[in-house]
Amino acid sequence: MSRYSEHDQEHYDRPRRRTRPRTKERPTYDDAVDGVVVTVDRGRFTLWVGEGDEAVKVMAMKARPLGRKGVVVGDRVRVVGDTSGADGSLARIVEVHERTAMLRRTADDDDPVERVIVANASQLVIVTALADPEPRPRLIDRALVAAYDARMQPLLCLTKADLADPEILLSTYRSLGVPWVVTQRGGDLSELRDRLRGRTSVMIGHSGVGKSTLVNALVPDAHREVGVVNTVTGRGRHTSTSAFMLELPDGGGWIVDTPGIRSFGLAHVQPEQLIGAFPDLDEMTEECPRGCTHGTDEPECGLDVAVTAGEADPERVESFRRLLAARSDSSY
Ligand code: ZN
Repeated sequence: MSRYSEHDQEHYDRPRRRTRPRTKERPTYDDAVDGVVVTVDRGRFTLWVGEGDEAVKVMAMKARPLGRKGVVVGDRVRVVGDTSGADGSLARIVEVHERTAMLRRTADDDDPVERVIVANASQLVIVTALADPEPRPRLIDRALVAAYDARMQPLLCLTKADLADPEILLSTYRSLGVPWVVTQRGGDLSELRDRLRGRTSVMIGHSGVGKSTLVNALVPDAHREVGVVNTVTGRGRHTSTSAFMLELPDGGGWIVDTPGIRSFGLAHVQPEQLIGAFPDLDEMTEECPRGCTHGTDEPECGLDVAVTAGEADPERVESFRRLLAARSDSSY
């Protein structure tokens, strides 16, 4: 059976000059439908096309006009061709809608190439165990920087509260106003569900913190659905996916799990982008000398002026500067 019908868009992508007048206009793709990218795997994309009970999972590839333009998990796309979702069918992504947010990383801090990990998510859930393993505040700081850079709302999700009191860790983030939720093993997840409802959230966390347990509790059969290899049993389809999106039951929103992401390279984050996430502090830097990074070593930073004048919370300024410094901390 042929994978392509004769009506496939390929004909339009590579028009023969003889049969088609010269034009700079792109094909209009009037018959295209909307979809959302839920997994990316070696040039193949899995999309959800349609709404609610009508939605079907469709395999797709990029159409030629997209060129090298990246398509990532969370992208809203327009798709043509066979969107039936039938076995062996392959649709074509012809357009990527403008992204509302981009969670990005630099491969490492010496690699200037930015890579978008997830598009259009509005919340970054930083999953951290309160004990076993011990929390690593520098990692949390770096995840916060990535969230603020992406203009995403961060959420600290502190697991294993049955093992340790969250207060010490929370006191570190209180002055930044980072929202938080606490869970314990086998405990109730309704507060977390409330925080996830009606939006798309990316969940990150190191192994052992309980992220997979949370994902499985939030979306039963999550990993079977996506086909990620179970590292214990070795069963499941192999994929090289580093992120995949799952719909929460009862229209509760979407979560993106990120099994392959252990750290964020943050070399692309500029001080101005970071302070933009804190409008009150940003306002205090208007009189800063040109090129001021607003860091601790800056001689005439407006943040110091504001602290001295009693106009800024010293703890908030210090916490902001800790985040600023975490950008270039490549020890994780
Ligand atoms: Zn400054």
